[in-house]
This record gives sequence, structure tokens and C-alpha cells, in this order.
Amino acid sequence: MTTLDICNARGLDGTPVEVRIESGRIAVIGPSLPSLPIAQGNATRRIDARGALLLPGLVESHTHLDKTAWGMPWYVNECGSRLIDRIDNERRWRAESGHDAGAASLALGRAFLAAGTTRLRTHVDIDTDAGLRHLDGVLATREVLADTLDMQIVAFPQSGVLDRDGTVALLDDSLARGADVLGWLDPCAIDRDPRASLDAMFTLADKHGCPVDVHLHEPGEMGAFSIELMLERTVALGMQGKVVVSHAFCLGELEAARADALLARLADAGVALITTAPPSRVVPPLMACRRAGVPLAGGNDGIRDTWTPYGTPDMLERAMMIGLRYNLRRDDELAIALDCVTHQGARACWFDDYGLHAGARADLVLVDAANAAQAIVTRAPRRWVVANGHIVVSEGVAV
Ligand SMILES: [Zn+2]
Repeated sequence: MTTLDICNARGLDGTPVEVRIESGRIAVIGPSLPSLPIAQGNATRRIDARGALLLPGLVESHTHLDKTAWGMPWYVNECGSRLIDRIDNERRWRAESGHDAGAASLALGRAFLAAGTTRLRTHVDIDTDAGLRHLDGVLATREVLADTLDMQIVAFPQSGVLDRDGTVALLDDSLARGADVLGWLDPCAIDRDPRASLDAMFTLADKHGCPVDVHLHEPGEMGAFSIELMLERTVALGMQGKVVVSHAFCLGELEAARADALLARLADAGVALITTAPPSRVVPPLMACRRAGVPLAGGNDGIRDTWTPYGTPDMLERAMMIGLRYNLRRDDELAIALDCVTHQGARACWFDDYGLHAGARADLVLVDAANAAQAIVTRAPRRWVVANGHIVVSEGVAV
């Protein structure tokens, strides 16, 4: 058996911590490691962390690997500002440029790993023009990175569902082919028939026994109405714990009492939220979510694609964006930002065996920082990254 020992690290509380990894799992974690019995066939590798800060593997809860132009020539954005402009513009660009979702997602997936992300949920466009082409590219990327990156794929009908005949059948095929989660967007604003839209979605999810993750950009009471319809269906189908609402801008626009009442219902139904903490939009109230017991995780959304020129595959940078958006200044508040891109992400997306404890999947990041706050504001260099027990960054270099 091959054993990997990590020595001389520090935990988030500043105390010494050492980790023994066996067969891709954390076997021992504590202030110091017991010596290994000398057994034939045992091979031990050792990392001397030299006081580096130990973090759990970072979690990207919401991105779109298939859309990115990462590693490609710069995309010149001249798109209109309406949602439908952006959807049409992207579809046109992908068709004309010959954009390869497989190559792009692999380049970005590797960059995520090199920056310490070991668990990742990506939405993948499914529509009647592209069919399952983008999905096949991302499935191939998942296969290539399977030893290290734990990737969930959301079948996502970016162009809406009700207007384009055949979309539901394609989503059905996607879930049969390897997508893990059913995505959707804006049942009022895009599909313009929220009950029909959500009934189609929840029926399909129920058929496959899969979770759902809905992009909800709808404002104020319109968005709240969509959430209420989702809650009804979540409870009716017994899908508590299997529903995520991404963005949920509306929760930041409601009166506090109305938002709190809705958050209490979300908590009861086990619904989680994901935010990108966008500087230009309202956001769900972070502290109210935590008080209500609603997981709120962080994600980038798209990175360097036709929708946005921004973003990097660095979840410590996303944690900084969360800190800036929510005005988190104290060290204990910045620890909450780190929580959004670690434990809250694992909770929202149901990544199993997550964390720094014996038995967990061995996903670890060692950074040059004194604590979580410094790691975030400096986007501290990743000194070592271990993913599923494999060293993917050593002495700051991706291997
Ligand atoms: Zn998205």
C-alpha cells in the first residue's frame, strides 16, 4: 500500500496538524502522526508542509465548463444586454467558431485542479441545435480527470424548454447518458408558463431520481412566486434535500420579513442556494440564510465566455468576491466566505465524504497564509494540492 504523509502543516485554528493518506482517503489526522509499522510492500511519500495552512479541497458549486473560451484567443464581446440577446449570441458564436466543449472544459477543469478545486458542479448546455454535443465533450473531460476531480454534470437547457419542442426529450437522454442533475431556468421569465415549466422539470427529475438545480434570475415577487411553486413540488415529490436554487437574486429584493419566511420554508424543504456574489446584482442575504439553516454556497458561473469576460478558476478569489459583496471584514466573517467555497458547497451539491476527518476523500490544499482571511485576500499560492489522494500540485507547480 502507498501512504502519503503530510507533516508540519497548520490547521485553520493555527495549531499543528499532520495527515496520513491511504488509498485516496484520510487515514489519520491529528497534531502528529504515529510512526508507520514496517511492512513489506509499504511505500511512503512525505510532504513537509513547512508550516503551510491546511484547507479542505475547494468546491466550485456552479460553473459552465462547456461555454468557456479558456485557453483560446480572446473573445471580443459585442453582445446586447438582454438575456435573450446573450443566449442567441452564444448559440451563434458556438456554431460559427467551431467551439469545442471537450477541449475547453478540459483546459478549464485542469486549471481548477491546479488552484485546489477538487469537487466541481458544472452546468452543460442542452438544446435542440447542439443536441448532446456539449454534454459528450464534458463527459469526456470528466473521464480524463476522474482520478482527481469529482465532477457533477447538470443538464442545462439554456434556451428554455417550452418554446423548443424536443428539449425535454434531450434532457431525458442527457440524464440517461451520464448527467447527474437536472437544470432549468426562469420558469416565469423564459418559459412564461411557470406551472407547466416546473411540472415538466420535476416530473423528469422524479423519473430519474435525480436532484435539480435551477437558475433563477427573476426579480422580486416574480422570483419568490417561482420559488413557492418549486417548494410545493419539492415537498409533493419528497425531493427534500435534492433541490438547489442558483442565483436567487429575488431573495435580496424582498422585505426582510418576507425573505425570512421564505428562507424558513427553504430550510424545511432542504433547499440550498448558490450565489456568485455578483457586484452588479442583488444577492440572497448571507447571514439570514445561515441563521435560517439554508446552505449558501459560492460559484463562479461562467468564466471567460460569451456571457462574461471575467472569472478565474480560483475559488479563493471567488471567496474574496463573496467577502467584498457581503462587506465581510473581520477574520471570523472571512472564515464564512471560505465556508461558502468549501463545506457549504459540499452540502449544497451533496458531495460525499467531504472534509478534513478520518475516512474523508483525501482532498487537501496547502497554502502560504496565516489563516483563512489572509488566504482569501491574498489568493494565497497553492503550495500543494492533493486530490483523491493524488498530488496534483507540488511545491507550487502543477504535476
Ligand atoms: Zn449559470
